[in-house]
Amino acid sequence: MIFDVEKIRQDFPILSRKVYDHPLAYFDNGATTQKPRQVIETVRKYYEEENSSIHRGIHYLSEHSTGIYEKARETARGFINAASTNEIIFTSGATGSINTIAFSFGEKFISKGDEVILSEMEHHANIVPWQMMCKRKGAKIKVIPFNEKGELILEEYEKLLSTKTRIVAVTHISNTLGTINPVREIIRRAHAMNVPVLIDGAQAVQHESVDVQELDADFYVFSGHKVYAPNGIGVLYGKEALLYDMPPYQGGGDMIDCVTFEKTTYNELPFKFEAGTMNYIGAAGLASALDYISGVGIDSIREYEHSLLEYATMKLMSVPGLQIYGSAPEKISILSFLMEGIHPYDAGMVLDKLGIAIRTGTHCNQPVMDHFKITGTLRASLAFYNTTREIDRLYDGLLRVLKMFG
Ligand code: PMP
Repeated sequence: MIFDVEKIRQDFPILSRKVYDHPLAYFDNGATTQKPRQVIETVRKYYEEENSSIHRGIHYLSEHSTGIYEKARETARGFINAASTNEIIFTSGATGSINTIAFSFGEKFISKGDEVILSEMEHHANIVPWQMMCKRKGAKIKVIPFNEKGELILEEYEKLLSTKTRIVAVTHISNTLGTINPVREIIRRAHAMNVPVLIDGAQAVQHESVDVQELDADFYVFSGHKVYAPNGIGVLYGKEALLYDMPPYQGGGDMIDCVTFEKTTYNELPFKFEAGTMNYIGAAGLASALDYISGVGIDSIREYEHSLLEYATMKLMSVPGLQIYGSAPEKISILSFLMEGIHPYDAGMVLDKLGIAIRTGTHCNQPVMDHFKITGTLRASLAFYNTTREIDRLYDGLLRVLKMFG
């Protein structure tokens, strides 16, 4: 099947704008993605015709709004093939989801001397909440290292798993290296020791088809804004039996069953973890984005993005003195690189003036930078609306950088 990228681009209004008189070439999709007209329209229509707080009223709009919210939960469930909507909790994003799990799972299941296994390529969002929890509980973090290609070393992982391990939390796909981790195998080995696993899918669901039941993930999290949905909405998937045993993270309206000054009983799943007025419009936008992706087809997206990765890798490698960080055979369309003797900010600023948006810095992955003994990289993260023509512009821009600073 031919992937009609020009047709897809027409769905994304921002892609036709100019930056410094150049057409925008947006390569910062790992940070956040642009929104299709369909999602923008869903949000606009909601505010214009449907807005009302959910789960609270018996009036028409409130009931209608509640219906849209719960339908969005069903859409999210279907997208990752969870067994039940009770396992889908809406949060503010991947960070909100991981903080909820680290606090709540930690409260219930982690004690002094216990261990949590993370990997060396985790985003800060999957490090800091665990550090906070470990500090509170007197537990320890153990780290799975990665090799020079940017692949997790499973033999080292095996050595870290022990009777002290209470949870393993790893990213599905690295936001700096692009590596697709063998999460199924990571989960299998943890389960052999009766240890649950959290998978950070913030860089995965927009690129790969994800089936949480097939993976047998205990927790799976992602952010809406990286999957073409509005900001401020995300998903926490958790197996029902685990969520049932875990205490709420935040207290407030909607998450309760009965409140007196002496005692509060909590609502059932998934509401126990959704305190306060939730981002119901964000949830509707998320459902619209997931429907959009399903319409394009996640397998077509994966194939097309893979061809972009191959093309971009070939082009970038032909730039003299350019080094790519992350060369795992299983990799998505993220390219982190440095140009010999040139500061990433200098390169990033020149590209910006050419209308080319790429990321510079540590990408919330300081341990990855420490691994390579560097202070940061340039990162081009490609989405299915990017084109080889735009990659050619990046290549030309890098040659210009080389001329100016090399
Ligand atoms: N995990 C990974 C792998 C990420 O790339 C990001 C965002 N860069 C996050 C977690 C955090 O996502 P958010 O800021 O949307 O909560």
